[in-house]
Amino acid sequence: MLFKDIPGLESIKQRLINAVKNQHVAHGQLFVGAEGSANMALALAYATYLNCENRGDEDACGTCPSCVKNLKYIHPDLHFVFPTAATTKIKREDAISDKFLVEWRDFLQKSPYGNVTDWSFHFGWENKQVIIPRMESRSIIQKLSLRAFEGQYKVMLIWQPELMNSSAANGILKVLEEPTDKTIFLMVSTDANKLLTTILSRTQMLKIPAFGDQDISEYLQEQMNIEAQKSTNAAYLAEGNMRLALTLTEGNVDEVQATFKDWMRTCFNWDFHTMTKMGETFQKSGKEYQKNLLGAGTKVMRDTLVNQFEPEMVRVNENEMDFIQKFGQVFTHQKIDRLIPKLEEAQYHIERNGNPKIVFLDLSLAIAKIARAKQ
Ligand SMILES: [Zn+2]
Repeated sequence: MLFKDIPGLESIKQRLINAVKNQHVAHGQLFVGAEGSANMALALAYATYLNCENRGDEDACGTCPSCVKNLKYIHPDLHFVFPTAATTKIKREDAISDKFLVEWRDFLQKSPYGNVTDWSFHFGWENKQVIIPRMESRSIIQKLSLRAFEGQYKVMLIWQPELMNSSAANGILKVLEEPTDKTIFLMVSTDANKLLTTILSRTQMLKIPAFGDQDISEYLQEQMNIEAQKSTNAAYLAEGNMRLALTLTEGNVDEVQATFKDWMRTCFNWDFHTMTKMGETFQKSGKEYQKNLLGAGTKVMRDTLVNQFEPEMVRVNENEMDFIQKFGQVFTHQKIDRLIPKLEEAQYHIERNGNPKIVFLDLSLAIAKIARAKQ
């Protein structure tokens, strides 16, 4: 990844470049940005720039031996840590990042704006929950005890440090505080609130804003060869989320949203049998799916609310608007005010490993009751 591959965000790029030029590179840096932001892309471009042998004023050269390796994510001084799960051959605790590098590099090439679910599906873990296991901290310390092989800097890029097992996170505190010379930690997070304060206090935070609509639209047209109108629409709907914009242009019908709609109809019809069956299906689909479903539901409800008060503020396509209008006929704003906390409560229980079948059946009944209530 080079800076020029990332649309917009000029001032952040310049800030990173200036830090290198002025030799003010902090040894622990935290790139925080929402899903679909450039948090990972910028960290990757920065890693390339740090070890480029012929740095320019605006970017790495892209052609020196160091850049060539960095662009393939095979530079010996660029180390990756990312969440994993067990496989049939590798036990949970032994599943450190090094064992999955081939698939990981492929993922970075194809989906630099992807999220944890995308990575999990890319590898074939599907809905298994991924984390950074305890053993990873030992591997990190071991790597950092070696001298840089070729580069000026040793870069340890940790993707999703919020998914670190707490003893893994504690295990790296010392090396994060007093790293060996020229070691740079780049942590790429989507939710800094989930990080240990001990990690936060040892890193310099860089907040990555969402992309602008124009930047996304141009990127889709120029890099992905997508026609102008489709690009503009996707950029508008995606609200700064590059991952979502890319998904929208792939023309994938959002399955999760479709399922959510079916589920709502089932609740409204008080179809207890189907409610139970759906709960079972959601359980089998895994935790990430369940979280996505509840997230999609919360968005529909918020859009419905906004549509009742300020319709011009709603950013959805025609199909969605149709659903929101029908949904709004059943669920008045008073009802939605009662529904949203129910969804949030369900999200809380799913996050903490509540039994999904029970959580979803309870929620279905609550939704059905609210739908049928007079007020
Ligand atoms: Zn270079």
